[in-house]
Amino acid sequence: MPERYLCPNCLGNRARFMLIFRVGQEILKDPRSGVITYQAPEWEMVQDGTHPYVDVRCLSCGYEGYERLFIQAARRVPLGHDAARSGPEERTLPVNLPLVASTWPPREKGPAQSSDPA
Ligand SMILES: [Zn+2]
Repeated sequence: MPERYLCPNCLGNRARFMLIFRVGQEILKDPRSGVITYQAPEWEMVQDGTHPYVDVRCLSCGYEGYERLFIQAARRVPLGHDAARSGPEERTLPVNLPLVASTWPPREKGPAQSSDPA
């Protein structure tokens, strides 16, 4: 059964998120010199029990945390009781997050100018 998310920070976003997975590489270091004496040939997904360890970033306010915090917030706050009273289509991007704001919504791949007369 799919789990719903609600951002535990802004309490206004249930729809726009980024999943952040962790990858790791096993190494051995020389205790004295710090030189890496072995590196596993491949990176592996860091596991949290039996499934990949995943953090979630809210694409509305930029908050980032454990996935279970988002799941718990969604269970705690019933639908329709979000902090933001606006509809799901209304943008609530804060102005102090230029990185998030400038990359949302994701752009189509291809030339940036599509209105040039040919
Ligand atoms: Zn948020």
